[in-house]
Amino acid sequence: MHSHHSHSGQFCRHAAPGTTLEDVVLAAIHAGFTTYGLSEHVPRYRKVDLYPEEEDLSPTDLLNTFTAYLTEAHRLRVKYAHVIDLLVGLETDYITPLDIDQLQQLLQAEEETGAGVEYVVGSVHHVAEQGIDFSKEWWEACVDSFSTDTGTDHPTVPPPPHTQRLTKALPDVPFPPAAVTAYLHAYLDAQHTLITRIHPTVIGHFDLCRLYIPKLPLNHPSLPGVWEKVERNIKEVVAYGGLFEVSAASFRKGWDEGYPGSEVLQVRYFPSASPVIYSLPHHPEPLVRLQRAHPVYCPVSDTQCIIANRGRLCLSDDSHGPASVALNYTRLRTYLVEQDVTELWYLARNTTVTGNSDSNAGMADENTTPSESVAATATPAVESTGESKEQRPWLVFQRRKLTPRKYDGRWADDPFWTRLSQRQT
Ligand SMILES: [Zn+2]
Ligand SMILES: [Zn+2]
Repeated sequence: MHSHHSHSGQFCRHAAPGTTLEDVVLAAIHAGFTTYGLSEHVPRYRKVDLYPEEEDLSPTDLLNTFTAYLTEAHRLRVKYAHVIDLLVGLETDYITPLDIDQLQQLLQAEEETGAGVEYVVGSVHHVAEQGIDFSKEWWEACVDSFSTDTGTDHPTVPPPPHTQRLTKALPDVPFPPAAVTAYLHAYLDAQHTLITRIHPTVIGHFDLCRLYIPKLPLNHPSLPGVWEKVERNIKEVVAYGGLFEVSAASFRKGWDEGYPGSEVLQVRYFPSASPVIYSLPHHPEPLVRLQRAHPVYCPVSDTQCIIANRGRLCLSDDSHGPASVALNYTRLRTYLVEQDVTELWYLARNTTVTGNSDSNAGMADENTTPSESVAATATPAVESTGESKEQRPWLVFQRRKLTPRKYDGRWADDPFWTRLSQRQT
C-alpha cells in the first residue's frame, strides 16, 4: 500500500520534535508500506510568513533546510530501495504570488541538479495571506476578515454580489453565509491558480478550507458559486491527469470522514431508490438530502464530484513524525469502502514500470507522459492561464521519474490492511 504525503521533525518545526526523516521511513517500512512519499513543505520567502515556532529562523534558513531535506531524502531513497519505494517530493504553499514564482524556479533548479523534486503535493494553507489550518483562532480571524459591511476588503477575491442578501445560518458555522462564501471562493481561487500554474502531481487535502467547519458541505445552497468552483478545480486536475489524495489526517483533526469529504468525493448520490426531493430557498434547483453522518445536499442533476469526473484517488497519511505514520489508515479504508471506491492510484517509479501491463493500460509508458495521454482524450475544463506545458518544464523531469499507476486488483483486500490492524492493536 502507499502514502504520498509526510513530514518529519528533522525538517519541519511543527512535526514531532526530536525525530528524524529516517525514523519516519523506518516507521513506514514497519507499517508495511511499499510506496511512501516524502513531502516536506516548500520554503516560505517572507519573514512575515514564518510560523510562531519558526520565530528564530529566517527565510534563508528555511531554504537551507529544504535543500538539506532533498539531499537526505534522496540518500534514504537509495538506502532503502530494496524494501520500499520512497518518493522525493514537496508540499506547496501559496500565500502570495511570490510563492508560486519561487516554486517554479525551485522546481526548475532542482531538476537541473538531477536529484530534484520527483513530485509535488499541491496544497493551499492560506487565504488572504492568513493561515487557515495553524489554529482555530487564526482561521476565525481569516474568515472574520471577510465579514466587513461590504465584504470587499479583499479586492482580488470579491464575493459574488448576490451573497450579500443571504441570511440563512449555516450549520455549525459562527459566521454569516456571505463571509463564509467569500472565504471559500478565495480558497478555491487560490487552489485553482496553484493547479493551473504548477500542475501538482497530487492535490493535497482538497477541502482543508473547512477544517474547522467539517459539517458544512461545500454544495450547501447558502454558498452560491462555491460548488461550481469545486467542480472547476476538479475538472482542471482531471484534465492534466493529477491525483487527488484521500487523507487520513482529517481523522486526527476530529473529522469523521477523510479529506476530501463525501460530497466532494461522492460516488453514490441516491442512498435509496426514491430519494426525497427538497426545494430550498435561494437555490434554483431541486436537491436531494443524502443520508450520511451529517446532511449533504446535492442538486439532483449533480455530477460535479471527483469520482463522477473520473478523478484518480491516491492515499496519504500526512504524517508528522513516526508516530503518525499510517495513523487512522484503517479508518480511511472504512471511509473509502463506504463510499464505494473501487479504484486507487499511486505513483510508481518508471524503472519498475513496464508501461505495458494491464494495470497500466491507457497510461503512459516511459515516452508518453500520463498527463499527455489523458490530455489527449480529455477536454480541459478551463483554459484560465493560457500557459502551455512548455512553461512547466519541471514536469518533464517529474514524469521521467514517476508515473501514476492503477492499483491492480481489489485494493481493500490487500494484505497490508490485515497486517496493519494487527500491528496497531
Ligand atoms: Zn498541508
Ligand atoms: Zn502536509
